[in-house]
Amino acid sequence: MRHALLSPLLSLAVSALASCTLASPPSQPASPTPPRNVLDEHSHAEPKRARVVHVDLDLNLDFAAKRIAGYAELRIERPDPEAPLILDVKGLEIELITGSDGGIRPFQLGEEHDNLGGSLTIRLKPDDELVRIHYSTVPTSEALQWLSPEQTAGGKAPFLFSQGQSVLTRSWIPLQDSPGVRVTYTARVQAPDGLVPVMSADSSERLEDGSSMFRMTSPIPPYLIAIACGDLEFEAISERCGVWADPSIVASAAKELEDTESMIANAEKLFGPYRWGRYDLLILPPAFPFGGMENPCMTFATPTILAGDKSLVSLVAHELAHSWSGNLVTNATWSDFWLNEGSTVYFEARIMEEVFGAERAIMENQLSFNGLKRELEGTSERDSILHIDLKGRHPDDGFSGIPYNKGALFLRRLEEVFGRADFDRFLRAWFDGHAFQSVTTAEFVSFLGTELLAPKPELAAQVDVEKWIYGSGLPDTAPVVPSSALAQVDAELKTYSSGKSAAGELNTDGWVTGQWLHFLEGLPAELSMEAMSDLDATFGFTGNGNSEILCVWFRLSVKHGYAAADEKLEAFLARVGRAKFLIPLYTALVKVSPERARELYARMRPRYHAVAHANLDRIVGASESAE
Ligand SMILES: [Zn+2]
Repeated sequence: MRHALLSPLLSLAVSALASCTLASPPSQPASPTPPRNVLDEHSHAEPKRARVVHVDLDLNLDFAAKRIAGYAELRIERPDPEAPLILDVKGLEIELITGSDGGIRPFQLGEEHDNLGGSLTIRLKPDDELVRIHYSTVPTSEALQWLSPEQTAGGKAPFLFSQGQSVLTRSWIPLQDSPGVRVTYTARVQAPDGLVPVMSADSSERLEDGSSMFRMTSPIPPYLIAIACGDLEFEAISERCGVWADPSIVASAAKELEDTESMIANAEKLFGPYRWGRYDLLILPPAFPFGGMENPCMTFATPTILAGDKSLVSLVAHELAHSWSGNLVTNATWSDFWLNEGSTVYFEARIMEEVFGAERAIMENQLSFNGLKRELEGTSERDSILHIDLKGRHPDDGFSGIPYNKGALFLRRLEEVFGRADFDRFLRAWFDGHAFQSVTTAEFVSFLGTELLAPKPELAAQVDVEKWIYGSGLPDTAPVVPSSALAQVDAELKTYSSGKSAAGELNTDGWVTGQWLHFLEGLPAELSMEAMSDLDATFGFTGNGNSEILCVWFRLSVKHGYAAADEKLEAFLARVGRAKFLIPLYTALVKVSPERARELYARMRPRYHAVAHANLDRIVGASESAE
């Protein structure tokens, strides 16, 4: 690390951090979340007997040892005074546990399983309202990714980030790691000199001893507690909104994301006030496994959305929409995940429509629809159901385009039938009436029935709710508005496929990213080497800076054995950790040459986050030989 070199940057970052301290806290939940006795089979906890409601963390980030160490002090409610406190843990080293009086409390660690880790059972005394758990994470903690300086944009300092969804928070904080058990939190974080920590908190301040203090005053599901730390600088977009990023990219990131304030204002117009105070974006190093993660007050985003032309900022609309759907009103169990994502994709399109116009929203909706159709071809009936059965499975087994795009289509169908005004009123009432609560699909169906369906039975008859939520596949009534921008591409594709025109004769003037993606997806299934070379020479796909376009182009290159793209493909696989890109690329590689796929993956695997490993290990079939 280069502390001396970083110090001028640090002073900037500190002032930005200070500026993030809120003058007034965000609007508070009207009442604490009522405990719901929903069985979450992906947690060992028994919250109806002893329930965690608040966490105070005191943590030291040790980059050299790749460990976070300190304590978590949990405030608990005890409906059953006889019951022990049961938490979820995975790979944590528990040193000591004390109770309200500071005395030691005995504890027991259950056997750990691959999927869900193990239980930590703490025997309480009758007066215990607090327990303090002194612990340390291990270097292989699945939630945490420790990056070397070379893996960051600036290349100067190491970087740490956490990813809690779905069940990984238990690998860095001992908690009841169920989305139905919401907690508020504070965290005092000690980071190495020169590195700036940030968290998913509604306020933060720098303490005299150099540590940072974070507070989240609204109750959130544990998977939304998030931390990152690195060489970070802040640039404001508006009073309540800004970007944290590596100093080398922060200015360009702020420029690319300058419409964020307008997105927030439009989202508020649609579905009610933004209740979290600040909305900041953190641009992570390329190793981040997702496009974005909606950590409250601080969306974590991949740098691959910075295309230079705002063409990929719908991701910001998506993560912002989660401030209502997902963070404010959360799936109670992972089988209800579609409630989070379906309404977020729906809401995202509405924000895009307000900020960038209807045509762009229509194009992006149609692209998602086409993607869903392709995906459904390879999806089992069981996994194409919105309310997915996850018994005995990992929650991430339900992570596909189904909860996202089929979920959004269901809501679009409701809008189509009941009209926008009534449907908006319904959604607004849903968010307002369930703010800071975790809800089940059954609760949604019941609310939908009383608020939207029952008053207009003749319209209700046109939506088969049961089939949409509990049936497999896609109902025929799925609404799609054809995009004229994509129709233009179809016309050019038709000419090209008929062999009447070479690539250079096609009319591609003014095409935007979505159109290029549609073009690439629509190319003939078989392309000669000459055709690939011609396309590349004409449109410069291999040298394109847009990661979405690169991903589809590399997939075609692998399929057709177009070796001229190999070098760039390998560089892409080494740099980018986003599962959305890695999965199709390794899938294509395995099909053509399993050996090459295994060799590449063995080299690259240490660069990817644990949430990408699970899928890729299965696809490449190389979990033992890797690393
Ligand atoms: Zn999402």
